[in-house]
Amino acid sequence: MPLTAEQAAEIEEQRAQTGTTRRAISEGMEEHLYKAHEVLDHGLIRVIDYMGNDSAITQAARVSYGKGTKAVSNDEGLIRYLMRHWHSTPFEMCEVKFHVKLPVFVARQWIRHRTANVNEYSARYSILDREFYIPKPEHLAAQSVINNQGRGEALTGAEAEAVLKYLRDDSDKAYDHYEEMMAEGDDDKQGLARELARMNLPANVYTQWYWKVDLHNLFHFLRLRADSHAQYEIRVYAEKMCEIVKDWVPAAYSAFEDYRMGGANISEKGLDCIRRRLAGEDVTQENSGMSKGEWREFEGMLG
Ligand SMILES: Cc1cc2nc3c(=O)[nH]c(=O)nc-3n(C[C@H](O)[C@H](O)[C@H](O)COP(=O)(O)OP(=O)(O)OC[C@H]3O[C@@H](n4cnc5c(N)ncnc54)[C@H](O)[C@@H]3O)c2cc1C
Repeated sequence: MPLTAEQAAEIEEQRAQTGTTRRAISEGMEEHLYKAHEVLDHGLIRVIDYMGNDSAITQAARVSYGKGTKAVSNDEGLIRYLMRHWHSTPFEMCEVKFHVKLPVFVARQWIRHRTANVNEYSARYSILDREFYIPKPEHLAAQSVINNQGRGEALTGAEAEAVLKYLRDDSDKAYDHYEEMMAEGDDDKQGLARELARMNLPANVYTQWYWKVDLHNLFHFLRLRADSHAQYEIRVYAEKMCEIVKDWVPAAYSAFEDYRMGGANISEKGLDCIRRRLAGEDVTQENSGMSKGEWREFEGMLG
């Protein structure tokens, strides 16, 4: 469980409080505020704050004085137009702040997205909890044979058991030594500084941060990390965020799903091949002008 009973009670208390505001809100997002969504074995993601809704996007695009809304259908059309034509700044008018608890190796991938604001839990100041990501057996996969940067079939039998045992034992042993080195509460020892003792912990230990990002850059993050090529352990966070964003800004999310997640980038050569095929020509990799890899991806995209 990612939350203690005390933390869960704190969240419930916060969720029970409401106030009045003149600010534009999103009914869907209000439901998510503060709620902890569990991810992986000890991880979580929750919305701490947000700014804007679908109307904020169209309001900014029109630079209007009041609500900025014409008809809902007009707003949806405008949002789709903005997304289609990469007119991205109106999407930057919406922002969201998440609290995320995640394994360190996932955090290393996540932090590569530079267009966000981050504040991480300090393991110089505080002691990390004994919480390590241990994959479920079905996610304990072998190295992929077709993609160096991916995984294949799940491990089975004695090999799977041995791997799980190593992961559990090594995590426990590292944490035992972490505690021993710091010697908290032991007056007979000096105790190693927390900022040094932490270097003994493996990359599956959990960390936490507050992560604030605008909707344009969040869509960019989700496009890359909710994609099937992203590593499972970061993808599950991105998929949960997709659900949240869908409730927050339904029209913008629907345009994002259509043009970015469900759409595709096609090269000039790719477009040429489609046109030639539509004209009845037999187009193959050899006469396409594409490399084998490009052709494989092109065929995959067309299904
Ligand atoms: C499937 C996958 C595999 C990956 N594999 C690797 C890997 O093997 N090794 C590795 O190191 N990384 C890897 N990455 C990370 C990847 O290269 C990017 O660093 C990461 O996805 C962040 O993307 P970004 O820079 O577009 O995002 P952000 O940092 O959020 O930037 C968003 C956009 O802002 C602009 N921008 C931001 N900062 C700058 C800047 N300083 N200069 C110019 N433009 C800027 C760019 O247009 C950028 O696209 C991988 C990512 C994915 C999704």
